[in-house]
Amino acid sequence: MRAQPEGSHYVDGAYLAGAGERHPDPYPATAETIAEIAWATPDEVDAAVASARRGFEVWRKTAPAERGRVLRRAADILRRDNRAISEIETLDTGKPLQETLVADAASGADCLEYFAAQAATLTGDHIGFSGDDGDFAYTRREPLGVCVGIGAWNYPIQIACWKAAPALACGNAMVFKPSEVTPLSALSLARALSEAGLPDGVFNVVQGGGAVGAALVAHPDVAKVSLTGESGTGIKVMTGAAATLKHVTLELGGKSPLIVFDDASIDQAVGAAMLANFYSTGQVCSNGTRVFVHEAIKDAFIDRLLARTRALRLGDPLDETTQIGPLVSAGHRDKVLGYYEKGKAETTVLIGGGRAEVAGFENGYWVEPTVFDVASDAAVVATEEIFGPAMSLLTFGDEDEVTARANATRFGLAAGVFTRDLARGHRMVARLRAGTCWINTYNLTPIEMPFGGVGRSGLGRENGGAAIEHYSQVKSVYVAMTDIDAPY
Ligand code: NAD
Repeated sequence: MRAQPEGSHYVDGAYLAGAGERHPDPYPATAETIAEIAWATPDEVDAAVASARRGFEVWRKTAPAERGRVLRRAADILRRDNRAISEIETLDTGKPLQETLVADAASGADCLEYFAAQAATLTGDHIGFSGDDGDFAYTRREPLGVCVGIGAWNYPIQIACWKAAPALACGNAMVFKPSEVTPLSALSLARALSEAGLPDGVFNVVQGGGAVGAALVAHPDVAKVSLTGESGTGIKVMTGAAATLKHVTLELGGKSPLIVFDDASIDQAVGAAMLANFYSTGQVCSNGTRVFVHEAIKDAFIDRLLARTRALRLGDPLDETTQIGPLVSAGHRDKVLGYYEKGKAETTVLIGGGRAEVAGFENGYWVEPTVFDVASDAAVVATEEIFGPAMSLLTFGDEDEVTARANATRFGLAAGVFTRDLARGHRMVARLRAGTCWINTYNLTPIEMPFGGVGRSGLGRENGGAAIEHYSQVKSVYVAMTDIDAPY
């Protein structure tokens, strides 16, 4: 098998073969089995949490600057090994190597580097209550303990890094459960962290499906859970975490609007709309899947969009000229094709709408990049998250109208506005109900910028200084400088 790891799990600084049931891990482009992964048994889940507890006792006492050095070295190792990890990521997800070489381990390395710097600069506050010799308080920023990270399958190592880096920077330990669909690259991260000098047990990986995730969420020795996944899973995780009052961060789904005004550069807006729907074969949570185009430019927009969509290159994901890979799994392909059928019934299909045939990859999970011309905002393809290369095109007349329509969703992950009128751009994003907005671009998520959603799209923020708030807690210390004035 092309990508069999040394062990399925990573616990106490070493691979663990795992005694649980073994599951085949297929390459989405061919359906060939590239690895067999054992899912964690309840005892192995306990062992991983116990390992993290031991790791936490070492790591919480490690100087913050040293924590930073370890994370920084891990960033260098991910960059050194970028090609090998990217090939694993391509085999596991089906995403073209053209993307994984620049967007996966590379962005994980940026994240480790950013939080390496944060680790050494974490501070508390001083709060004075009177003059120089009076009482005062100070705050200490302390870790939470054992944190659990649960990943989705679209950006496996990036998600692992977005959770591990801030958690470890703050002095926590982590048990990470990758998606059962993409189990491999979290193991590469674990090995890189060990090589960088991370004490054993501080970062552990266990494999499995929802039941393993739920066991981690319920575990009494876990202080916090951060999930990336669907909104329905977010509700289950938050409900499970409530029983033991754990902290939660939820990065969930979306149905985000991308609004193109008539003064925008059409070429730029078309490029953004394509990136916002076809990159990673549309499997991006923040995708701008409802593209609202001003009625005055609709025809020109469609002309250029279709010409550029026709030219997309589907093919061997390991060929660096390939732009579009298969979907991640057979089940997901069937779900997306189901939406294509609903789209055919309710909208005009401008391009695509079915399975894609790719010579030499007949067994893979391919679908065509698809554009629906949508007359009613209530169409299923314009309201539900498809998570495939499916763009819904809608038209609008004015600002108030498009704002109301863009906000008419329970999701609220992201939004984008294209206009040359910058006052309008800022006015629009102030009114849009979303956690992350872009003006004249789309889907850029540099580590320095907090990322997350509102409503059904999630709770809390990853990245930026905001992530520190979600992986640490403040202890207040009151210091008396004078005698106690007791009335009895
Ligand atoms: P999913 O919700 O099916 O699974 C996510 C993870 O949760 C997996 O590891 C799964 O094993 C685990 N899980 C499932 N049931 C669980 C339970 N009861 N308790 C604990 N863990 C459980 O999502 P997916 O299909 O892997 O990923 C696609 C979804 O993720 C989309 O909705 C997408 O929008 C979302 N997503 C969000 C972001 C973001 O940052 N907001 C990023 C990527 C993906």
